[in-house]
Amino acid sequence: MSELAYTEPKAKVIAGAKADWELVIGLEVHAQIASNAKLFSGASTRFGNAPNTNVAFVDAAMPGMLPVINEFCVEQAVRTGLGLKAEINLFSRFDRKNYFYPDLPQGYQISQLYHPIVGEGEILVDMAPGVARKVRVERIHMEQDAGKSVHDMDPEMSFVDLNRTGVALMEIVSRPDIRGPGEAAEYVRKLRQILRYLGTCDGNMQEGSMRADVNVSVCQPGAYERYRESGDFKHLGTRCEIKNMNSMRFIQQAIDFEARRQIAILEDGGSIDQETRLYDPVKGETRSMRSKEEAHDYRYFPCPDLLPLEIEQAWVDEIKATLPELPDAKKARFVNDFGMTEYDAGVLTADVANAAYFEAVAKGRDGKQAANWVINELFGRLNKEGHSVETSPVSAAQLGGIIDLIAKGDISGKIGKELFEIVWNEGGDPAEIVTARGMKQVTDTGAIAAAVDEVMAANPDKVAAAKEKPGMAGWFVGQVMKATGGKANPKVVNEMVREKLQ
Ligand code: ADP
Ligand code: MG
Repeated sequence: MSELAYTEPKAKVIAGAKADWELVIGLEVHAQIASNAKLFSGASTRFGNAPNTNVAFVDAAMPGMLPVINEFCVEQAVRTGLGLKAEINLFSRFDRKNYFYPDLPQGYQISQLYHPIVGEGEILVDMAPGVARKVRVERIHMEQDAGKSVHDMDPEMSFVDLNRTGVALMEIVSRPDIRGPGEAAEYVRKLRQILRYLGTCDGNMQEGSMRADVNVSVCQPGAYERYRESGDFKHLGTRCEIKNMNSMRFIQQAIDFEARRQIAILEDGGSIDQETRLYDPVKGETRSMRSKEEAHDYRYFPCPDLLPLEIEQAWVDEIKATLPELPDAKKARFVNDFGMTEYDAGVLTADVANAAYFEAVAKGRDGKQAANWVINELFGRLNKEGHSVETSPVSAAQLGGIIDLIAKGDISGKIGKELFEIVWNEGGDPAEIVTARGMKQVTDTGAIAAAVDEVMAANPDKVAAAKEKPGMAGWFVGQVMKATGGKANPKVVNEMVREKLQ
C-alpha cells in the first residue's frame, strides 16, 4: 500500500455573491534545480555570493560563447518527473524565448516550449485526513533563470546582478484542477515537500528558489465538470495570471481577492480580460500589469546552439531505481506500521529530516510512544526555540534513551520530561544522568510504605476523613509523590494508600 484512501473535497464556493461561483486555479511553479553549477555553464549557483561573482562568460553572453548542458540538471529534472509519477520524454528540445530585459544579457531565455522533458504527472494535495485532491501536472520543462535588477541600493541608479543568470529552473505546470485558495497553498506545500524529499530543489521560498504564477478564473457550478469530461477549456471562465508569488499566505490572499474581483465584474454584466496581474500585499489587492493584447510575441525558435536532448530509457530506469520513499508512501507506512493517526503521520513526514529523526527514535521501540515524544516534546521545543531537527540539542539516540528508561520503569513519564530538559540544556547520556542524579523511580515497596506511613502519621484528621470518603485517597498519593521527589512509582503508591485506608 503506497497511498492512503481519500475522497475529493467539494469545490470552494465564493460566499457573498449573488449566484454560486466556483474557483478554478492552475499554477505554474518555477523551482530552481538543486545543483552546484548552472544549466549551461560551470559557474556556481550559491545564493548570497558577492554580486556578479557567479558568472561564466556564457552567462554574461559574451560573443561566441556556447552553452554546454549540465547532465546533472537533466538528471534532476528526470528525477522530479518520476517523483510526480509523470511520463519522461526521451526526446526534448530547447527553444529561444526572445525578449529584452536588463537582467537578461543574451536577449533570450533558453527554455523548452514545444518538447518539454517531462509530460503528464500528478500531485495528491492533502486537505484533511482522508480528504485530498489529485491535481494533474501537465508538464515540466527546463529553462534558465534570469539575473536580478536591484533598484533599492541607490536613489538614482539601478544595478544588475547576474549571479542568478543561467541557474537551472524547472517550470512545473499544473492543469486547472485546484478549486480553492487553501488548496492552492496546499498544492505548493506538497510540491515543495516532494521536491525536498527528492533533493531536486531546496524549496527555499524566501530566497526565491520556488515561486508561483497563479492562474485564476471563476465559473458556475457544473462548468468545471464539463471541462473535465470534454477537456475543452471553453467551459471555463477567462483567467487572469498573478505573477511571481513566493508566499503561501499571499497566494491565498491574492486568489481570494481575484475571485471576488472577477465575480463582481461578471455579476455587473461585464466580462473578464485575460491579463497578467501583480499582487500588492500591502493593499491586499491585485492590479493589472499587462493585458493579453500587449502580451509579448517571444518569437520562439529552436536554439541553434544546442542539439535536441535525447536520453535513454535505461538511464531513466537507473534514476527510478534510486528514488527515495516519497511523502505519500511514507505517511501510509507510518499509519500502517506504527498504528499512528493519519494526522500524526502527516506531521512526522512533513519534512524528510523530521521523518528520518522519528524513524531513528522509533527503531526497536513502541512507535506510538516515539511519535508522542517526537511530536509533543521535541517538535514543541524545537519550534519554541527556532530550531530544526538538524540543529536539535537532543539527538534521536538521546531521546530514544529517555523513552527506554520510561519503558523499563526506571523513571516515570513526568521525570522523563525533566530528564528531557536536562539533556536539552546540558547534553549527556540519559541513563548515566538518571544514575548520577538519583532520579531512578522508587518501586521498592518498603521505602514507599515508609513514606505513606509518614504522611498518614502527620495527618490523622485527614486519615479519619478519607476512611469515610475514599475519594480523598488522591490527596495522600499526591503528598507521597511530593515527599519522594516524584520518584515513587505512582501505581505502587496508589495501591498502598488505598490498602492502608481500608
Ligand atoms: P499559457 O501558455 O498562456 O501560459 P497555458 O495553457 O500554458 O497558458 O496555461 C497556463 C496555466 O494556466 C496552467 O497552469 C493552466 O492550468 C492554467 N489555466 C488554464 N486555463 C485556466 C482557467 N480557465 N482558469 C484557471 N487556470 C487556467
Ligand atoms: Mg505558461
